[in-house]
Amino acid sequence: MSNMDRRSFIKLLGAATGVGLAGAPFITSAAEMLPKKGRRVVVIGGGYGGSIVAKYIRINDPSIEVVMIERDKKFVSCPFSNTVIGGFRDIKDNTITYENLAANNGIKVVYDEVTAVDTSAKKVVVSGGTISYDRLVLSPGIDFRFEEIEGYDPVATPKVIPHAWKAGEQTLLLRKQLVDLPKGGTVVMSIPVTPFRCPPGPYERISMMAWHLKNHNPTAKIIVLDANPDIVSKGPLFKKAWAKHYEGMIDYRPGNKVTKVDNKKRSVDTGVEEIKGDLVNLVPPQKAGMIAHKAGVVGEDKKWCPVNQLSFESTLAKDVHIIGDSCMAGAMPKSGYSANSQAKVCATNIVQLMNGQDLIDPSHTNVCYSYVTENEAISVAAVYKVAEGKTIAVANSGGVSPDLSELEAIYARSWIKNILHEMSS
Ligand SMILES: Cc1cc2nc3c(=O)[nH]c(=O)nc-3n(C[C@H](O)[C@H](O)[C@H](O)COP(=O)(O)OP(=O)(O)OC[C@H]3O[C@@H](n4cnc5c(N)ncnc54)[C@H](O)[C@@H]3O)c2cc1C
Repeated sequence: MSNMDRRSFIKLLGAATGVGLAGAPFITSAAEMLPKKGRRVVVIGGGYGGSIVAKYIRINDPSIEVVMIERDKKFVSCPFSNTVIGGFRDIKDNTITYENLAANNGIKVVYDEVTAVDTSAKKVVVSGGTISYDRLVLSPGIDFRFEEIEGYDPVATPKVIPHAWKAGEQTLLLRKQLVDLPKGGTVVMSIPVTPFRCPPGPYERISMMAWHLKNHNPTAKIIVLDANPDIVSKGPLFKKAWAKHYEGMIDYRPGNKVTKVDNKKRSVDTGVEEIKGDLVNLVPPQKAGMIAHKAGVVGEDKKWCPVNQLSFESTLAKDVHIIGDSCMAGAMPKSGYSANSQAKVCATNIVQLMNGQDLIDPSHTNVCYSYVTENEAISVAAVYKVAEGKTIAVANSGGVSPDLSELEAIYARSWIKNILHEMSS
């Protein structure tokens, strides 16, 4: 840790614990919340990656203590949040809690925000004190690069112009704005440059908003400003669905990057044109969760965390692993399914490392389903392996579903039911 980092860490530590700095010995002055008796892994985040890595470490080696720290008592899933916006799923069905996960697997769950990580002292700081680890796993999801959009106020803007790229209140706000849209009104949706959380997510959202509008406000329009040169996932199938079900409603404009926003006018600007909407859904560009930045495990791009592709151990800090959206995992998309697969591989290899064994070669899977109407979905799937230190898709291992299909929608519902159950039991 550099002197500068150490100073910022001490400052954070003082703020988190109320311990004054003058004369206070570094770190040891803050109370250890859970004195460590044996080997311990601390997991930050209880989402798609965190809950699963915590569970599988305990399954693979019950002699390792696992402490999972999550800021929220309830986790609201982003997968299937677009169907809440479309109006045919209750957000309660996307919400899980951790009591059963903790009780069934002997995981200690701490509901708190991690405000700092000292990778030299191997401690994290929460409001109640510090928690020591032998190994740390970060699965904090994403945060936003608000600063790249002129006029974006991280507090004020999302209250008027939702991103709904973290599920919960934002999902419900976007749903409400869609229901309240004036007759024949205009929705503007802005999509950032890849990589971002869930490559097909924005296009599923457009489909879901169009589904609602077709049924309740058929003269409304959706203008899509996509910073990418084309639809980044399942393009031909989304285009087919839009032509079949929403003809004339969606004005898709590729190569249009939003650089400016105006909350009062409810408008976005591409540098070429200012576009006003009755509803604006601006998805900002993204980066690894903030705590990864504070822990010093973000790479030179200042966005994502470089990791060993077998163990998910940081290439920048020893005994710290990063999984899920925050990490760089080669060809794997930033999805809940990927995070789940990475969590299982990471758990296996953490147990291997803690028991002095060799790392095991992973085989990952990912399937991303997208709804295009209330009853029809499409999917993309692949298997991934590590070759020469890089995660690559296995040739001919996947592809997209052949067509829009009711069966895919049934598979999708089964997937969300199973994965949320796995995370909460
Ligand atoms: C609209 C939309 C639709 C999507 N649909 C799909 C889909 O159909 N299929 C799919 O596979 N994926 C989908 N995704 C992607 C999926 O949501 C993410 O890829 C997945 O959540 C990543 O898991 P994670 O563990 O990295 O982060 P998360 O699941 O977001 O978990 C991060 C957790 O860490 C906690 N946390 C963060 N920082 C701290 C801290 N400092 N202290 C304590 N706790 C902290 C957060 O509270 C959160 O609970 C979708 C995403 C969106 C936005």
